[in-house]
Amino acid sequence: MVDAHADRDLILARLGEVWLKGRNRQSFLNRLERNLRAALKAELRGVRVEPSYGRIFIRVAAEDLHRALEICVDTPGLSSVSPARRVPSTVEAIREAALELTAEAWAGVEGTFSVKARRRLKAFPLTSPELGRVIGEAIGERFRHLSVDLKRSDHQLGIEVDDRYTHIWTRTLKGSGGLPVGSAGRVTLLLSGGIDSPVAGYLAQKRGCELDAVYFHSPPFIGEPSKDKVIQLANRLAPRQGGMRLYIIYFTEIQKAIRAACDPRFTVLLYRRFMYRLAAEIAEGRKALALCTGENLGQVASQTLENLTAVDRLTPLLTLRPVLAFDKEEIIEVARRIDTFDISTLPFDDCCTLFIPDNPIIHAQIKALEIEEAKLDVPALVQEALVKSEMLKLSGLPIIGEAVEG
Ligand code: ATP
Ligand code: MG
Repeated sequence: MVDAHADRDLILARLGEVWLKGRNRQSFLNRLERNLRAALKAELRGVRVEPSYGRIFIRVAAEDLHRALEICVDTPGLSSVSPARRVPSTVEAIREAALELTAEAWAGVEGTFSVKARRRLKAFPLTSPELGRVIGEAIGERFRHLSVDLKRSDHQLGIEVDDRYTHIWTRTLKGSGGLPVGSAGRVTLLLSGGIDSPVAGYLAQKRGCELDAVYFHSPPFIGEPSKDKVIQLANRLAPRQGGMRLYIIYFTEIQKAIRAACDPRFTVLLYRRFMYRLAAEIAEGRKALALCTGENLGQVASQTLENLTAVDRLTPLLTLRPVLAFDKEEIIEVARRIDTFDISTLPFDDCCTLFIPDNPIIHAQIKALEIEEAKLDVPALVQEALVKSEMLKLSGLPIIGEAVEG
Protein backbone atom coordinates (compact mmCIF):
# COMPACT_ATOMS: atom_id res chain seq x y z
CA MET A 1 0.00 0.00 0.00
CA VAL A 2 1.11 3.51 -0.69
CA ASP A 3 1.18 6.01 2.13
CA ALA A 4 -0.70 9.08 0.91
CA HIS A 5 1.39 11.37 3.09
CA ALA A 6 4.67 10.14 1.68
CA ASP A 7 3.63 11.42 -1.71
CA ARG A 8 2.06 14.69 -0.85
CA ASP A 9 4.63 16.71 -2.79
CA LEU A 10 4.16 15.21 -6.18
CA ILE A 11 3.58 17.45 -9.17
CA LEU A 12 1.30 16.35 -11.97
CA ALA A 13 2.39 17.96 -15.25
CA ARG A 14 0.17 17.90 -18.33
CA LEU A 15 1.49 17.89 -21.86
CA GLY A 16 0.69 20.67 -24.29
CA GLU A 17 1.03 20.30 -28.04
CA VAL A 18 3.47 17.45 -27.57
CA TRP A 19 0.42 15.30 -27.15
CA LEU A 20 -0.71 16.05 -30.72
CA LYS A 21 2.51 14.91 -32.30
CA GLY A 22 1.34 11.56 -33.64
CA ARG A 23 4.18 9.30 -34.64
CA ASN A 24 6.82 11.71 -33.39
CA ARG A 25 5.24 11.96 -29.98
CA GLN A 26 7.78 9.74 -28.24
CA SER A 27 10.78 11.78 -29.32
CA PHE A 28 9.07 15.02 -28.26
CA LEU A 29 8.19 13.44 -24.94
CA ASN A 30 11.73 12.23 -24.39
CA ARG A 31 13.04 15.71 -25.08
CA LEU A 32 10.55 17.30 -22.71
CA GLU A 33 11.38 14.83 -19.99
CA ARG A 34 15.08 15.46 -20.44
CA ASN A 35 14.63 19.25 -20.34
CA LEU A 36 12.48 19.09 -17.22
CA ARG A 37 14.90 16.82 -15.46
CA ALA A 38 17.86 19.06 -16.35
CA ALA A 39 16.11 22.26 -15.25
CA LEU A 40 14.93 20.76 -11.96
CA LYS A 41 18.14 18.95 -11.13
CA ALA A 42 20.23 22.02 -11.81
CA GLU A 43 18.74 23.53 -8.67
CA LEU A 44 17.05 20.89 -6.57
CA ARG A 45 18.14 17.64 -5.00
CA GLY A 46 16.39 14.29 -5.00
CA VAL A 47 14.13 15.11 -7.95
CA ARG A 48 12.35 12.29 -9.77
CA VAL A 49 10.68 12.77 -13.12
CA GLU A 50 8.40 9.95 -14.22
CA PRO A 51 6.29 9.97 -17.39
CA SER A 52 3.13 7.91 -17.33
CA TYR A 53 0.02 7.78 -19.55
CA GLY A 54 0.47 11.19 -21.13
CA ARG A 55 1.37 12.86 -17.84
CA ILE A 56 4.68 13.58 -16.22
CA PHE A 57 4.95 13.14 -12.47
CA ILE A 58 7.61 15.02 -10.57
CA ARG A 59 8.62 14.25 -7.05
CA VAL A 60 10.57 16.73 -4.96
CA ALA A 61 11.12 17.42 -1.27
CA ALA A 62 8.28 19.35 0.38
CA GLU A 63 10.36 22.48 0.84
CA ASP A 64 11.24 22.53 -2.89
CA LEU A 65 7.68 22.25 -4.14
CA HIS A 66 7.15 25.95 -4.81
CA ARG A 67 10.39 26.34 -6.74
CA ALA A 68 9.78 23.12 -8.68
CA LEU A 69 6.38 24.46 -9.76
CA GLU A 70 8.00 27.68 -10.97
CA ILE A 71 10.51 25.70 -13.01
CA CYS A 72 7.78 23.51 -14.52
CA VAL A 73 5.70 26.55 -15.44
CA ASP A 74 8.69 27.93 -17.30
CA THR A 75 9.47 24.73 -19.21
CA PRO A 76 8.10 24.83 -22.78
CA GLY A 77 5.95 21.84 -23.66
CA LEU A 78 3.75 21.69 -20.56
CA SER A 79 0.21 23.03 -20.69
CA SER A 80 -0.37 23.06 -16.94
CA VAL A 81 0.83 21.66 -13.62
CA SER A 82 -0.85 20.81 -10.35
CA PRO A 83 0.60 20.01 -6.96
CA ALA A 84 -1.17 16.72 -6.36
CA ARG A 85 -1.61 13.97 -3.84
CA ARG A 86 -1.17 10.36 -4.92
CA VAL A 87 -3.27 7.66 -3.30
CA PRO A 88 -4.18 4.07 -4.13
CA SER A 89 -7.07 3.78 -6.58
CA THR A 90 -9.83 2.89 -4.09
CA VAL A 91 -12.94 4.94 -3.40
CA GLU A 92 -12.12 5.06 0.30
CA ALA A 93 -8.57 6.34 -0.17
CA ILE A 94 -9.79 8.92 -2.69
CA ARG A 95 -12.53 10.19 -0.37
CA GLU A 96 -10.14 10.48 2.56
CA ALA A 97 -7.55 12.37 0.55
CA ALA A 98 -10.16 14.61 -1.07
CA LEU A 99 -11.48 15.64 2.35
CA GLU A 100 -8.00 16.22 3.68
CA LEU A 101 -6.88 18.28 0.70
CA THR A 102 -9.98 20.44 0.61
CA ALA A 103 -9.82 20.94 4.38
CA GLU A 104 -6.40 22.52 3.83
CA ALA A 105 -7.13 24.38 0.61
CA TRP A 106 -10.71 25.53 1.15
CA ALA A 107 -10.65 26.49 4.81
CA GLY A 108 -12.44 29.81 5.09
CA VAL A 109 -13.27 30.18 1.39
CA GLU A 110 -16.70 31.19 0.07
CA GLY A 111 -18.61 30.42 -3.13
CA THR A 112 -19.20 27.32 -5.22
CA PHE A 113 -17.21 24.17 -5.91
CA SER A 114 -17.09 21.28 -8.33
CA VAL A 115 -15.39 17.91 -8.46
CA LYS A 116 -14.03 16.85 -11.79
CA ALA A 117 -13.27 13.17 -11.75
CA ARG A 118 -11.79 11.22 -14.60
CA ARG A 119 -11.50 7.48 -14.62
CA ARG A 120 -8.77 6.12 -16.83
CA LEU A 121 -8.77 2.73 -15.11
CA LYS A 122 -11.84 1.13 -16.62
CA ALA A 123 -11.95 -1.57 -13.93
CA PHE A 124 -12.61 1.05 -11.26
CA PRO A 125 -16.00 0.31 -9.63
CA LEU A 126 -17.51 3.78 -10.27
CA THR A 127 -17.84 5.70 -13.52
CA SER A 128 -16.30 9.18 -13.69
CA PRO A 129 -19.59 11.01 -12.97
CA GLU A 130 -20.42 8.60 -10.16
CA LEU A 131 -17.07 9.14 -8.52
CA GLY A 132 -17.46 12.91 -8.89
CA ARG A 133 -20.86 12.74 -7.22
CA VAL A 134 -19.71 10.54 -4.32
CA ILE A 135 -16.76 12.77 -3.56
CA GLY A 136 -18.79 15.93 -4.14
CA GLU A 137 -21.37 14.77 -1.59
CA ALA A 138 -18.70 14.00 0.97
CA ILE A 139 -17.21 17.46 0.51
CA GLY A 140 -20.65 19.10 0.55
CA GLU A 141 -21.32 17.59 3.97
CA ARG A 142 -18.02 18.89 5.25
CA PHE A 143 -18.29 22.39 3.78
CA ARG A 144 -21.95 23.24 4.26
CA HIS A 145 -21.50 26.86 3.23
CA LEU A 146 -20.17 25.93 -0.23
CA SER A 147 -22.66 24.98 -2.93
CA VAL A 148 -22.05 22.83 -5.98
CA ASP A 149 -21.81 24.44 -9.40
CA LEU A 150 -20.62 22.03 -12.07
CA LYS A 151 -20.32 24.66 -14.79
CA ARG A 152 -18.63 27.70 -13.31
CA SER A 153 -17.35 26.90 -9.84
CA ASP A 154 -15.02 29.10 -7.80
CA HIS A 155 -13.09 26.12 -6.48
CA GLN A 156 -12.29 22.86 -8.24
CA LEU A 157 -11.11 19.51 -7.06
CA GLY A 158 -9.54 17.37 -9.76
CA ILE A 159 -9.34 13.58 -9.57
CA GLU A 160 -7.69 11.28 -12.05
CA VAL A 161 -7.91 7.54 -11.52
CA ASP A 162 -5.14 5.46 -13.08
CA ASP A 163 -4.25 1.77 -12.82
CA ARG A 164 -2.46 1.80 -9.53
CA TYR A 165 -2.75 5.34 -8.32
CA THR A 166 -5.16 8.16 -8.23
CA HIS A 167 -4.07 11.80 -8.26
CA ILE A 168 -6.03 14.53 -6.57
CA TRP A 169 -5.48 18.30 -6.69
CA THR A 170 -7.06 21.62 -5.90
CA ARG A 171 -4.69 23.95 -7.70
CA THR A 172 -3.70 24.19 -11.37
CA LEU A 173 -1.05 26.54 -12.71
CA LYS A 174 -0.89 27.44 -16.36
CA GLY A 175 2.25 26.19 -18.10
CA SER A 176 4.07 28.06 -20.83
CA GLY A 177 2.75 25.76 -23.56
CA GLY A 178 4.76 25.42 -26.75
CA LEU A 179 7.14 22.61 -27.64
CA PRO A 180 10.18 21.21 -25.85
CA VAL A 181 13.31 23.29 -26.41
CA GLY A 182 15.56 21.49 -28.87
CA SER A 183 12.80 19.65 -30.71
CA ALA A 184 13.00 22.07 -33.66
CA GLY A 185 16.79 22.28 -33.88
CA ARG A 186 19.44 24.86 -33.19
CA VAL A 187 19.01 28.56 -33.96
CA THR A 188 21.42 31.49 -33.68
CA LEU A 189 19.91 34.44 -31.82
CA LEU A 190 21.23 37.97 -32.38
CA LEU A 191 20.98 39.13 -28.79
CA SER A 192 21.36 42.83 -28.05
CA GLY A 193 20.79 44.44 -24.69
CA GLY A 194 17.36 45.67 -25.81
CA ILE A 195 13.86 44.57 -24.89
CA ASP A 196 13.00 42.82 -28.13
CA SER A 197 15.69 40.25 -28.81
CA PRO A 198 15.46 38.36 -25.49
CA VAL A 199 11.71 38.11 -26.03
CA ALA A 200 12.29 36.88 -29.59
CA GLY A 201 14.71 34.28 -28.21
CA TYR A 202 12.21 33.11 -25.62
CA LEU A 203 9.44 32.80 -28.21
CA ALA A 204 11.75 30.78 -30.46
CA GLN A 205 12.64 28.54 -27.52
CA LYS A 206 8.94 28.03 -26.92
CA ARG A 207 8.58 26.69 -30.46
CA GLY A 208 11.34 24.18 -29.85
CA CYS A 209 14.48 26.12 -30.89
CA GLU A 210 17.65 25.61 -28.92
CA LEU A 211 19.60 28.86 -28.97
CA ASP A 212 23.16 30.01 -29.32
CA ALA A 213 23.36 33.76 -28.75
CA VAL A 214 25.59 36.23 -30.58
CA TYR A 215 26.30 39.70 -29.22
CA PHE A 216 28.19 42.44 -31.08
CA HIS A 217 30.30 44.54 -28.77
CA SER A 218 32.24 47.74 -29.51
CA PRO A 219 34.79 48.62 -26.87
CA PRO A 220 35.94 51.17 -25.86
CA PHE A 221 32.94 53.11 -27.20
CA ILE A 222 30.49 50.67 -25.67
CA GLY A 223 31.45 49.80 -22.10
CA GLU A 224 31.62 46.60 -20.06
CA PRO A 225 28.23 47.26 -18.41
CA SER A 226 26.56 46.80 -21.82
CA LYS A 227 28.24 43.43 -22.22
CA ASP A 228 27.37 42.39 -18.65
CA LYS A 229 23.79 43.29 -19.37
CA VAL A 230 23.70 40.95 -22.36
CA ILE A 231 25.30 38.19 -20.28
CA GLN A 232 22.56 38.68 -17.71
CA LEU A 233 19.91 38.47 -20.43
CA ALA A 234 21.49 35.36 -21.90
CA ASN A 235 21.43 33.86 -18.42
CA ARG A 236 17.68 34.32 -18.37
CA LEU A 237 17.34 32.23 -21.55
CA ALA A 238 19.94 29.59 -20.73
CA PRO A 239 18.19 27.54 -18.00
CA ARG A 240 15.31 26.65 -20.30
CA GLN A 241 17.74 24.66 -22.40
CA GLY A 242 20.20 23.44 -19.78
CA GLY A 243 22.83 26.07 -20.69
CA MET A 244 23.64 28.24 -23.66
CA ARG A 245 26.60 29.50 -25.66
CA LEU A 246 27.05 33.26 -25.92
CA TYR A 247 29.40 34.42 -28.67
CA ILE A 248 30.82 37.90 -28.23
CA ILE A 249 31.97 39.43 -31.47
CA TYR A 250 34.12 42.54 -31.37
CA PHE A 251 32.55 44.96 -33.79
CA THR A 252 34.62 48.11 -33.31
CA GLU A 253 36.94 47.65 -36.28
CA ILE A 254 34.04 47.04 -38.63
CA GLN A 255 32.23 50.12 -37.38
CA LYS A 256 35.35 52.22 -37.76
CA ALA A 257 35.89 50.96 -41.28
CA ILE A 258 32.31 51.81 -42.21
CA ARG A 259 32.62 55.29 -40.72
CA ALA A 260 35.87 55.92 -42.56
CA ALA A 261 34.72 54.79 -45.99
CA CYS A 262 30.95 54.83 -46.39
CA ASP A 263 28.09 57.29 -46.85
CA PRO A 264 26.86 57.96 -43.28
CA ARG A 265 23.21 57.69 -44.27
CA PHE A 266 23.69 53.93 -44.70
CA THR A 267 25.60 53.34 -41.46
CA VAL A 268 22.93 51.45 -39.50
CA LEU A 269 22.06 49.13 -42.37
CA LEU A 270 25.70 48.45 -43.10
CA TYR A 271 26.17 47.48 -39.44
CA ARG A 272 23.16 45.23 -39.64
CA ARG A 273 24.41 43.54 -42.79
CA PHE A 274 27.71 42.75 -41.09
CA MET A 275 25.84 41.40 -38.08
CA TYR A 276 23.88 39.05 -40.29
CA ARG A 277 27.02 37.87 -42.11
CA LEU A 278 28.83 37.20 -38.86
CA ALA A 279 25.88 35.50 -37.19
CA ALA A 280 25.50 33.31 -40.27
CA GLU A 281 29.15 32.25 -39.95
CA ILE A 282 28.61 31.30 -36.30
CA ALA A 283 25.42 29.49 -37.29
CA GLU A 284 27.21 27.51 -39.93
CA GLY A 285 29.92 26.42 -37.51
CA ARG A 286 27.24 25.20 -35.14
CA LYS A 287 25.04 23.61 -37.80
CA ALA A 288 22.22 25.96 -36.79
CA LEU A 289 19.16 25.90 -39.03
CA ALA A 290 18.11 29.56 -38.75
CA LEU A 291 18.93 33.00 -37.38
CA CYS A 292 16.59 34.79 -34.99
CA THR A 293 16.32 38.53 -34.29
CA GLY A 294 14.16 40.92 -32.30
CA GLU A 295 13.31 42.91 -35.42
CA ASN A 296 9.88 44.42 -35.58
CA LEU A 297 8.04 45.91 -38.49
CA GLY A 298 8.02 49.67 -38.29
CA GLN A 299 9.13 50.08 -34.70
CA VAL A 300 12.20 52.11 -35.63
CA ALA A 301 13.35 53.72 -38.87
CA SER A 302 15.75 50.89 -39.67
CA GLN A 303 12.88 48.39 -39.67
CA THR A 304 10.84 49.25 -42.74
CA LEU A 305 10.05 46.44 -45.17
CA GLU A 306 12.72 47.77 -47.54
CA ASN A 307 15.31 47.84 -44.78
CA LEU A 308 14.41 44.37 -43.54
CA THR A 309 14.77 43.17 -47.12
CA ALA A 310 18.20 44.77 -47.24
CA VAL A 311 19.46 42.61 -44.38
CA ASP A 312 17.58 39.53 -45.45
CA ARG A 313 19.60 38.44 -48.49
CA LEU A 314 22.99 37.91 -46.89
CA THR A 315 22.64 34.28 -45.99
CA PRO A 316 20.57 31.39 -47.32
CA LEU A 317 19.56 30.70 -43.73
CA LEU A 318 16.00 31.46 -42.73
CA THR A 319 15.65 34.37 -40.29
CA LEU A 320 13.03 34.01 -37.59
CA ARG A 321 11.52 37.28 -36.37
CA PRO A 322 9.12 36.17 -33.67
CA VAL A 323 8.16 39.71 -32.54
CA LEU A 324 7.82 41.14 -36.05
CA ALA A 325 4.12 41.85 -35.67
CA PHE A 326 3.97 42.55 -31.94
CA ASP A 327 3.17 45.98 -30.54
CA LYS A 328 5.79 47.28 -28.13
CA GLU A 329 3.34 46.81 -25.25
CA GLU A 330 2.91 43.16 -26.16
CA ILE A 331 6.68 42.65 -26.25
CA ILE A 332 7.05 44.35 -22.87
CA GLU A 333 4.38 42.13 -21.38
CA VAL A 334 6.35 39.02 -22.35
CA ALA A 335 9.62 40.63 -21.23
CA ARG A 336 8.15 41.20 -17.78
CA ARG A 337 6.86 37.65 -17.62
CA ILE A 338 10.26 36.14 -18.43
CA ASP A 339 11.99 38.63 -16.17
CA THR A 340 14.17 40.30 -18.78
CA PHE A 341 12.48 43.71 -18.80
CA ASP A 342 14.32 45.17 -15.81
CA ILE A 343 17.67 44.08 -17.26
CA SER A 344 16.86 45.34 -20.76
CA THR A 345 15.93 48.78 -19.46
CA LEU A 346 19.24 49.34 -17.69
CA PRO A 347 20.62 52.50 -19.34
CA PHE A 348 23.59 51.16 -21.30
CA ASP A 349 24.24 51.78 -24.98
CA ASP A 350 24.22 49.30 -27.83
CA CYS A 351 26.77 49.43 -30.65
CA CYS A 352 23.97 50.28 -33.11
CA THR A 353 23.92 53.78 -31.59
CA LEU A 354 27.57 54.39 -32.47
CA PHE A 355 28.53 56.92 -35.19
CA ILE A 356 24.91 57.31 -36.25
CA PRO A 357 23.94 60.26 -38.48
CA ASP A 358 20.79 62.33 -38.04
CA ASN A 359 19.35 61.31 -41.40
CA PRO A 360 19.53 57.53 -41.85
CA ILE A 361 18.03 55.97 -44.96
CA ILE A 362 14.52 54.73 -44.30
CA HIS A 363 13.86 52.91 -47.58
CA ALA A 364 17.18 51.43 -48.65
CA GLN A 365 17.96 49.93 -52.03
CA ILE A 366 20.21 46.88 -51.87
CA LYS A 367 22.17 48.19 -54.83
CA ALA A 368 23.12 51.35 -52.90
CA LEU A 369 24.30 49.28 -49.95
CA GLU A 370 26.39 47.10 -52.24
CA ILE A 371 28.05 50.21 -53.68
CA GLU A 372 28.98 51.28 -50.14
CA GLU A 373 30.28 47.81 -49.27
CA ALA A 374 32.44 47.77 -52.41
CA LYS A 375 34.52 50.40 -50.62
CA LEU A 376 35.37 47.85 -47.89
CA ASP A 377 37.14 44.50 -47.78
CA VAL A 378 34.06 42.73 -46.46
CA PRO A 379 35.45 39.14 -46.27
CA ALA A 380 38.60 40.30 -44.47
CA LEU A 381 36.61 42.34 -41.93
CA VAL A 382 34.33 39.37 -41.29
CA GLN A 383 37.24 36.95 -40.85
CA GLU A 384 39.11 39.29 -38.56
CA ALA A 385 36.07 39.73 -36.32
CA LEU A 386 35.48 35.98 -36.19
CA VAL A 387 39.06 35.26 -35.21
CA LYS A 388 38.87 37.72 -32.32
CA SER A 389 35.47 36.57 -31.08
CA GLU A 390 34.96 34.95 -27.70
CA MET A 391 32.55 32.35 -26.48
CA LEU A 392 31.03 31.98 -23.02
CA LYS A 393 29.27 28.84 -21.88
CA LEU A 394 26.44 29.88 -19.60
CA SER A 395 24.86 27.44 -17.21
CA GLY A 396 22.19 30.02 -16.56
CA LEU A 397 21.40 29.44 -12.91
CA PRO A 398 18.89 30.16 -11.53
CA ILE A 399 15.73 30.91 -13.51
CA ILE A 400 13.24 33.24 -11.91
CA GLY A 401 9.71 32.62 -13.12
CA GLU A 402 6.39 33.67 -11.72
CA ALA A 403 3.95 30.86 -11.23
CA VAL A 404 0.63 32.10 -12.57
CA GLU A 405 -2.66 30.81 -11.21
CA GLY A 406 -4.96 29.76 -14.02
P1 ATP B 1 16.30 45.12 -29.31
O1 ATP B 1 15.33 45.67 -28.35
O2 ATP B 1 16.28 43.64 -29.38
O3 ATP B 1 17.69 45.68 -29.16
P2 ATP B 1 15.64 47.10 -31.20
O4 ATP B 1 14.21 47.41 -31.32
O5 ATP B 1 16.50 47.98 -30.37
O6 ATP B 1 15.80 45.60 -30.74
P3 ATP B 1 17.59 47.27 -33.33
O7 ATP B 1 18.55 47.93 -32.40
O8 ATP B 1 17.34 47.85 -34.67
O9 ATP B 1 16.15 47.08 -32.70
O10 ATP B 1 18.03 45.80 -33.52
C1 ATP B 1 17.22 44.87 -34.18
C2 ATP B 1 17.75 43.49 -33.89
O11 ATP B 1 19.11 43.36 -34.32
C3 ATP B 1 17.80 43.18 -32.41
O12 ATP B 1 16.55 42.75 -31.93
C4 ATP B 1 18.83 42.10 -32.36
O13 ATP B 1 18.30 40.86 -32.77
C5 ATP B 1 19.83 42.58 -33.41
N1 ATP B 1 20.89 43.39 -32.76
C6 ATP B 1 20.97 44.73 -32.69
N2 ATP B 1 22.09 45.10 -32.01
C7 ATP B 1 22.73 43.98 -31.68
C8 ATP B 1 23.94 43.67 -30.98
N3 ATP B 1 24.72 44.62 -30.47
N4 ATP B 1 24.27 42.38 -30.82
C9 ATP B 1 23.47 41.39 -31.31
N5 ATP B 1 22.34 41.62 -31.98
C10 ATP B 1 21.96 42.88 -32.16
MG1 MG C 1 18.52 47.48 -29.88
